[in-house]
Amino acid sequence: MRIIDLNKTREIGSQCIYLEVGNFKILLDCGMSPREEGFKALPNFALINGEAIDIIIISHCHLDHVGSLPFFMKNQQQARVLTSPASHIIMPRILENSVTIMTMQREERGVKEYPLYSMSDIKELDKHILQMPHAKTRTLQKDGSEINVTFFSAGHVIGASSVLIEHKHRTLFFSGDVLFRNQKTLKGALWPKKTVDVVISETTRGNHSQRDDFSYQSEIDRLVNRIKYTLEGGGSVLIPAFALGRMQEILKILHNAQTQKKLPKNIPIFCSGLGLGLVDDFEVANKKLRCIDFRSAILRDLKVKSFRNAKFDKLRKPTQQSIFVLSSGMLVENTPSYITAANLVGSPQNAILFVGYCDPMTPGGELLAQEKHSSFDFKALRVSSKIEAYIERFDLSGHADREDLLECIFSLNPRTVVLTHGEKESRDWFFDNIIDKRPKIVIVDPEPGEWCDV
Ligand SMILES: [Zn+2]
Ligand SMILES: [Zn+2]
Repeated sequence: MRIIDLNKTREIGSQCIYLEVGNFKILLDCGMSPREEGFKALPNFALINGEAIDIIIISHCHLDHVGSLPFFMKNQQQARVLTSPASHIIMPRILENSVTIMTMQREERGVKEYPLYSMSDIKELDKHILQMPHAKTRTLQKDGSEINVTFFSAGHVIGASSVLIEHKHRTLFFSGDVLFRNQKTLKGALWPKKTVDVVISETTRGNHSQRDDFSYQSEIDRLVNRIKYTLEGGGSVLIPAFALGRMQEILKILHNAQTQKKLPKNIPIFCSGLGLGLVDDFEVANKKLRCIDFRSAILRDLKVKSFRNAKFDKLRKPTQQSIFVLSSGMLVENTPSYITAANLVGSPQNAILFVGYCDPMTPGGELLAQEKHSSFDFKALRVSSKIEAYIERFDLSGHADREDLLECIFSLNPRTVVLTHGEKESRDWFFDNIIDKRPKIVIVDPEPGEWCDV
């Protein structure tokens, strides 16, 4: 088996690995980088220029895994796209939203190549999709070569999958993005109990050590207490959250807190459109698959309002105390969370509470890294504000802790581990710990664009 990491940098970026197994040419994910724009945000497709891809595996519907799929498929009409039934339901809405954002960025920032694909390109995808229910093996054939492909639940977000590929006596396992613990809305990953030859693993949390006294519930309690404290002090709260996954998890946490009288019911809650729209998809997915513990009744109970109806005065302050649960989770420029952060950050009564991963190069990552009272440039709005609001990160990540992930990789007893989807320090932690604990394992930390035999 041979691979090329098509991500342009050794970072999280645009997840996409080219893999040759038998006669099959396969892509593992087809993402778009959140920190770049235009063609730069795409994986390095030039490296496989002219190759006819047989199979594209989409592990889940975050844009860093699926964002460039309609662009790539324009010249790959023979390819089949394998994804879970829930991801199949969600994918069009995520990609359509991406077209809307790219169209906006073309106008506002002059990115001439945007949008990189159209609504009709997204519709075209549908006829290429082969649904892969979890734990059901599908056999595929090409020119006398045969592979078995099995998707497994990866936790993380609705529909997220880890993928096993078997060819003759060789086996390869791709983690996708994975979380083993249960969330309030979703059960944790269920990996196979077997030995595999090669594991290609995400490494997102490799640079994060967990406190010994950490528990998911205690972190939720800390978040709820901080929201309560801020509201009691007359401030508003912004929780930037990925529309897919984090937003619904946070809404369920707020719902539980209100039910248990830990938070007041009279403060309006605003959410951005994509996160609300996805709840409709969850309802459709749940009817068929019963895959997620989130009902639209939660939105009704919380009286959630669309962000479009939120009002700010001339001084850019909210006209009433509010809780904002808005995408993007990383405050990507001109998104609802970015605009609201610019409105809230100047007042010490307010709080901006991060609940997921923030790429250090995005405005969210930059804001987290900056000192209180320093001034922060919201470049896209041409506004500079002093950071006076309370800013904190809560560890409600949708990714596995590094120790859990390492243990689960070891449980597959691999000969080779390929590191992917993480910053340098994160990969280094996995590298060092695998060498230390299982010195016989071959570790591959692929140089972007280089062939690796695995
Ligand atoms: Zn993800
Ligand atoms: Zn990811």
